[in-house]
Amino acid sequence: SVTLDPIKEDAKPPPLAGANVMNVILVAAECAPWSKTGGLGDVAGALPKALARRGHRVMVIAPRYGNYAEAQDTGVRKRYKVHGQDLEVNYFHAYIDGVDFVFIDSPLLRHIENNIYGGKREDILKRMVLFCKAAIEVPWYVPCGGVCYGDGNLAFIANDWHTALLPVYLKAYYRDKGLMQYTRSVVVIHNIAHQGRGPVDDFAYVDLPPGYLDLFKFYDPVGGEHFNIFAAGLKTADRIVTVSHGYTWELKTLEGGWGLHGIINENDWKLRGIVNGIDTKDWSPDIDIHLKSDGYVNYSIDTLKTGKPQCKAALQKELGLPIRPDVPLIGFIGRLDDQKGVDLIAQAVPWMMDQDVQLVMLGTGRPDLEQMLRNFEGQYKDKVRGWVGFSVKTAHRITAGADVLLMPSRFEPCGLNQLYAMRYGTVPVVHAVGGLRDTVKQFNPFEESGLGWTFGRADVNELIHALGNCLYTYWDYKASWEGLQKRGMEQDLSWDNAAQNYEEVLVAAKYQW
Ligand code: ADP
Repeated sequence: SVTLDPIKEDAKPPPLAGANVMNVILVAAECAPWSKTGGLGDVAGALPKALARRGHRVMVIAPRYGNYAEAQDTGVRKRYKVHGQDLEVNYFHAYIDGVDFVFIDSPLLRHIENNIYGGKREDILKRMVLFCKAAIEVPWYVPCGGVCYGDGNLAFIANDWHTALLPVYLKAYYRDKGLMQYTRSVVVIHNIAHQGRGPVDDFAYVDLPPGYLDLFKFYDPVGGEHFNIFAAGLKTADRIVTVSHGYTWELKTLEGGWGLHGIINENDWKLRGIVNGIDTKDWSPDIDIHLKSDGYVNYSIDTLKTGKPQCKAALQKELGLPIRPDVPLIGFIGRLDDQKGVDLIAQAVPWMMDQDVQLVMLGTGRPDLEQMLRNFEGQYKDKVRGWVGFSVKTAHRITAGADVLLMPSRFEPCGLNQLYAMRYGTVPVVHAVGGLRDTVKQFNPFEESGLGWTFGRADVNELIHALGNCLYTYWDYKASWEGLQKRGMEQDLSWDNAAQNYEEVLVAAKYQW
């Protein structure tokens, strides 16, 4: 379990939201630190705290996959019909860092934290239907600090297809009946590649009036006529947010919209890109709890020159690589699938192995790619480590110990690892796509500007070209390298900016129906 210290009453900053103070409820299928498979979990854990710091009353609703020590049973019990079954739901609550966390407990949701999106299609559907039905009633039935939120100045933030039913339920169960008239809903697109597609018959699961079928029925050349939950959510929501400007643009294209580009274009008026922030309490080299043992040290921009090499040595030691300060250590962290461009790294490995470098990769995912990581390690014992597993600690340590972070993603809605890397003085080399294009400006040696290296196409030669320039700078231009590191570390990557932008979206939704 995780310990989080609640912020002290007197440490709370004054409300910034002024006249626009809202009740905000973010609903997500995962929420760090309790559950996380990727960036969505990080966002659900951090954005609400930043909104609360601005003075809003903020709640997160997530499934209770395990026994979370900090959350108490509220005693509230409700029953919901899901595909003919009558299911009981318990609501748990915790108040942490100014945010109400409400966890929805049901046998359907328990003990799947390692396989949140897995299982048979009808089981996944049932889980999402139950979760969304139970979530939308929270403001009415679950007291937080003694008082229910109610619907006064209330806004829901739903995330990805898993909770895209929420705006639809808000409309069908409440607004159509003259209730919750002033409650707004926003859907955030973290990843459009998953949409909750299925046969049209799936409509039977979602428990909506027949007139709603058309919202879900969707046709595209790839899927033919099918049932699409994301499509219905995007059409119904008052506003749509995506996690970067680059991704907003890509979603409108045939290639980037994964079939939904038409809907995105039609709803352009309610679309906005907001780059994710990072949780600076978790991800700051000066306070990172994973750098407090095993030879690692906390460091800041002032102690970069001693602290980071020490972390690098500790990482080399921990992984059994030759302990050499002068060899560039290249890191990769991420899900092992097509999206992350692991195959491009694989194609570049022979070239990399001709250079004097070390390569450390951490990831889980497709079994063949996991095996590939192990094979590289077996083949190049003194140069490569391929760590198959999901380890938050190791992710932090690689971020601190590596010199370079490689992110050749084919598409990347926002991407967090490049942001973490820059905060730790680790220089990113990325495919300029989505959020990577927004956040990593190409190094310009003439102006000594920029934050890393970017390449324009997901192609191994382009990757090698960018990485080659990066290594050349690392070896021969120490001052430029230090400049890159420092510019990266000096950026304000916190959630405070992003939270203000989300607030603007919620306010806009309120005044412009
Ligand atoms: P995505 O959401 O597409 O997976 P992001 O870059 O937005 O990608 O977020 C990934 C998050 O998951 C980061 O916090 C990253 O550190 C973490 N992560 C990914 N794979 C692993 C792993 N094998 N071990 C630990 N953390 C991981």
